[in-house]
Amino acid sequence: MTSPSTPSSPLSRSAVVTGAGSPRGIGRATAHALAAGGYDIAVIDIDESAAEDTAREVAGTHGVRTLGVAADVTDPEAVDTAVAAVEAELTPIGALVNNAGITSPTRFLDVSAEEWDRIFDVNVRGSFLVTRRIAPGMAERGFGRIVHLSSVSAERGGGVFGGVAYSAAKAALLGFSRALARELGPSGVTVNSVAPGLIDTDITAGRLDPERKAAMVADIPMGRTGTVTDVADVIAFLARPESEYLTGVTYDINGGSHIH
Ligand code: NAD
Repeated sequence: MTSPSTPSSPLSRSAVVTGAGSPRGIGRATAHALAAGGYDIAVIDIDESAAEDTAREVAGTHGVRTLGVAADVTDPEAVDTAVAAVEAELTPIGALVNNAGITSPTRFLDVSAEEWDRIFDVNVRGSFLVTRRIAPGMAERGFGRIVHLSSVSAERGGGVFGGVAYSAAKAALLGFSRALARELGPSGVTVNSVAPGLIDTDITAGRLDPERKAAMVADIPMGRTGTVTDVADVIAFLARPESEYLTGVTYDINGGSHIH
């Protein structure tokens, strides 16, 4: 756990980003974008040293207070301990980005119940547990910005990298987001989703065939894969205090690969 002591952020609020340890991931880029927007930053990742590394990097770059803490988002006690540490060390939590996620390309006819459950555990149960721990405080304080990482796979029925389990889990997050937006709106808390297309990170862990990737890029009107900054910018936009009138929406970030 790290907590560089710098003055608190311009917003005097913290943003929690789960899964922001990954060096080339969407979460780390989002932590930077939210810090640039004035939030203190808490990184929660299953990989403790990666979480600490992001926290150090963000504090060094933006001069906000940061904390990197380990937790498996599928474990309620670990989530509780991690969020309690954030509450003790940083400014009140104003934003939450449920970014921790895993994927798998396993075809439906081959998927085991264990693999199906693991995909749902990290993507859906993890988002549920962290949100359930943080949302009450947001509602009590009358301010919150929650963003979920869905995927274009949820909207178009896979066809990128993730299989049926991943598409179903990311679609579950859209229902979760929309219903929660309705419930928490009166408390000043917005709940939105982003649905990225193919973003260049390490989530596919080298399992994406280069020929398949080239074929997918050929079908993207903007002619390239997405970058982590493409996604982080939209999340930071949704997390601004000024974005209050946007709730229950899904922002597509896919270069036009899926227009609907
Ligand atoms: P990534 O693999 O680079 O990062 C995922 C991070 O989540 C890692 O730091 C990992 O340690 C952490 N993590 C995994 N399981 C965890 C757990 N149980 N508890 C806590 N942390 C855990 O992935 P990424 O590409 O940056 O993806 C980030 C999010 O965006 C994911 O939810 C992913 O499904 C979603 N997404 C990615 C893409 C893409 O093309 N990369 C597209 C659409 C959606």
